[in-house]
Amino acid sequence: MAFDYDLFVIGGGSGGVRAARIAAGEHGAKVALAEEDRMGGTCVIRGCVPKKLMVFASSFADTFGEARAYGWDVTPGEFDWRVFRGRLDAELDRLERAYRAGLDTAGVTVFDTRATVEDAHTLRLADGATVTARHILVATGGRPFLPGIAAAAGALTSNDIFKLDRLPESALIVGGGFIACEFACILNGMGVKVTQFYRGEQILRGFDGEARGHIAEHMREAGIDLHVGCDVMELERVAGGTRVTATNGHETVHEAVIYATGRVPNTEGLGLEATGVRLGRRGEVVVDEWSQTAVPSIYAVGDVTDRINLTPVAIREGHAFADTVFGARPTKADHTLVPSAVFTQPEFGTVGLTEEEARDLGPIEIYATAFRPMRSAFAGRPERAMMKLVVSAENRRVLGCHIVAPQAGEMIQLAAIALRMGATKEDFDRTVAVHPVMAEELVTLRKPVRTA
Ligand code: NDP
Repeated sequence: MAFDYDLFVIGGGSGGVRAARIAAGEHGAKVALAEEDRMGGTCVIRGCVPKKLMVFASSFADTFGEARAYGWDVTPGEFDWRVFRGRLDAELDRLERAYRAGLDTAGVTVFDTRATVEDAHTLRLADGATVTARHILVATGGRPFLPGIAAAAGALTSNDIFKLDRLPESALIVGGGFIACEFACILNGMGVKVTQFYRGEQILRGFDGEARGHIAEHMREAGIDLHVGCDVMELERVAGGTRVTATNGHETVHEAVIYATGRVPNTEGLGLEATGVRLGRRGEVVVDEWSQTAVPSIYAVGDVTDRINLTPVAIREGHAFADTVFGARPTKADHTLVPSAVFTQPEFGTVGLTEEEARDLGPIEIYATAFRPMRSAFAGRPERAMMKLVVSAENRRVLGCHIVAPQAGEMIQLAAIALRMGATKEDFDRTVAVHPVMAEELVTLRKPVRTA
């Protein structure tokens, strides 16, 4: 049977665009891609990129104070959200154009519309037209999850923050994950009075315990009113904002209430189940290690599969899919030892096992240090950096590396190469320090602080 396309991709985010470009540009497949929103997906339009630019913007609050300590005669002015927002919009437009140009150069046909799946080889576009393809790739990503009471009270999500006309004077952030903690720090830096509620014992569940404690302490020192073991019981719209009744009985009014309570896969109404594609409990597309669904012609990559929800992982999955199916190069995306960074202030970079995970697997040694980096010590600032290595006592391999420090994201990328190569603690020790930098502490950790 002749198909209109070799591949039809649903979703123009990181995973979908990479798969389309590699399949068409490198392997010569006839490819189409449908995107109902802006090209670039969550990462480019309402995630990593605008978030990181907001991190840069907010971090100037501290830089001005530091500059004075270093002898500069500067007086911090007010942060003007509208100036930043205008430049942010222009940058996102530029990036969206670059994504489109990349697809165009690779020869991908783009449909700026919603596409749903009719059967194993047929798609329906929003105007009713049908298109056929030998293979279908679902790369529709995820969207913020808003509990019922939050939706009813008009709470904002991370999607809305980038589009605000003005910054609120005060904000309650609900959640303790990546997004909640990053936005708590960003908005705090931009001068918003931030309160954060997290229902569990400590923010950033799943990360190394010591690092979590270190970050929480810094967030509080920076002025964030962080409450753990605390959730929202009631929300009521009142003049000037929302009245929040907390589970501890306290009532407060905040101009904005922002929920960062996780994300759910975008599979609603896609027609997948009727085709025989299996969906999991959270609506995620169930795939095997080749990103193939229960229907052999349909694959899925990225957040819609709810494996590791990070842009570089989606890109790897999309690339591996294209090489496997169109390049006669069977490739599986490797989901082990994935490094990541949380852009709190200070930043957190992490790769490998946490101390808590590692001690369940065998005897370990923990090497750790906390210190005031030279730059902030000179400026008389209180920030402390933390570096930690989790080491196997049996084979000496470094199983995990956790860094809380300015630029920790940059450092962890390089540490991840060492861990990927199987570096031992002695390999770290043999490496001569670069002086004076923060990361030299990683190669000068002499004695374990504890064993387990
Ligand atoms: P997370 O899953 O990281 O965090 C969700 C938070 O919301 C948790 O603290 C969770 O609590 C809490 N929560 C969930 N449901 C409720 C509820 N009904 N009421 C109150 N609290 C609730 O999700 P995020 O939205 O922060 O991020 C989504 C994903 O996006 C991340 O997992 C990550 O993969 C990716 N991401 C990566 C970034 C990076 O690389 N820097 C930045 C931003 C996002 P509990 O712990 O108790 O479940």
